[in-house]
Amino acid sequence: MMATRIDGKDFAEQVSKEVAEGVKDLKASHGVTAGLAVVSVGEDPASQVYVRNKVKQAEACGMNSFHHVLEAETSRKSLLSLIESLNNDLLVHGILVQLPLPAHLDSRDVIQTIDPRKDVDGFHASNVGDLWTSGKPFVPCTPLGCLKLLKSVDPNITGKNAVVIGRSNIVGRPMAALLLNESATVAIAHSNTKDLPALCRQADILVAAVGRPEMIKADWIKPGAIVLDVGINRVETADGRGRLVGDVDFEDVSTVAGAITPVPGGIGPMTIACLLANTLEAAKRTVS
Ligand code: NAD
Repeated sequence: MMATRIDGKDFAEQVSKEVAEGVKDLKASHGVTAGLAVVSVGEDPASQVYVRNKVKQAEACGMNSFHHVLEAETSRKSLLSLIESLNNDLLVHGILVQLPLPAHLDSRDVIQTIDPRKDVDGFHASNVGDLWTSGKPFVPCTPLGCLKLLKSVDPNITGKNAVVIGRSNIVGRPMAALLLNESATVAIAHSNTKDLPALCRQADILVAAVGRPEMIKADWIKPGAIVLDVGINRVETADGRGRLVGDVDFEDVSTVAGAITPVPGGIGPMTIACLLANTLEAAKRTVS
C-alpha cells in the first residue's frame, strides 16, 4: 500500500478562503479591516519571494497590507522606531519581521520589541511562554500548518508517539509544544541525537525540520506512520535548473508510511495560510 499524499496546497486554499470570509465578516460587523505589516531588511532574494507572496495573499484575502522595505545597512534604532510606529498603528493588526536579518541586527532582540498582540509569527517570548503553558498564544505559522494537516488525517493525537527532528525556535520547538498540548508523547531529536533511525521507528507521527535533502529513508519509518516533511532543500539536476526536495525521501518513505506530505505542495503553502489566519485572529481580538 502506498501512503496517502497529504495535499497542503488544497488545504491551504481552504484555510485562505475561510480567512477571506472572516475578514469580510469583521469588516461588516465592526468596520475593521484586518491589516498585516511586513518588514524586510535588505534584499535577500529567497526572502523577497516569500515576502511578495505574503503581501499578495494578504491582499487576496481582503486585508490591508503594508510592506516596508529597509536597506540592508538600516540601524537597530531605525528598525525599532519603525516597529514602534507599527505597534501604535490602529490599522495594523499583525507585524512580521522577515528573517533572517542582516548580521548586525539581533533577530531575537528585534522580535521582543513587537507588541505580542501583533506578533502573528508567534516568535515573541510572551507567545512562546503562552504556548508552553497552554495559554492563548499566536502559534508560529509553520508548526501550526503542520498540526492542521496532521489533524486532517488523524484527529486523535492523544497518546501517540511523536518524534520531531530539529529544535529550532521557528519549527522544531513550537512543533513539539503543539504536539505535547495535544497529549502526544513527544521526543525532540537534533544533530547530537544517537541512533536517529531507531528513534524514528518508534514514531506514529514524524516531523522532519532539518534542512538535509532526502535524509529520511523508508527503513526509518514505522509502518503506517504519518510523516510531515517541513524541509525545503534545493538540489542540483542534470539540466542545471535544480529542484526542491524535502528532508524525507518521498518515493521511498511512501512505501511504508500511512500518510505523507510532499515537497513542494505540503507544509509550505500552509505556512502563509496560517499567517493570514493569525492576522485575522489578531484583528478579531481588538474588538472582542
Ligand atoms: P535550523 O537550521 O534552524 O534547524 C535545523 C535543526 O536540524 C537543528 O535543530 C539541528 O540540530 C537539526 N539537525 C541538523 N542536522 C541534523 C542531523 N543530521 N540529524 C538530526 N538533526 C539534525 O532550520 P529550521 O529553520 O528549523 O528549518 C528546517 C528546514 O525546514 C529547512 O529546510 C527550512 O528551509 C525548512 N523550513 C520550511 C518552512 C516551510 O514553510 N515549509 C518554514 C521554515 C523552515
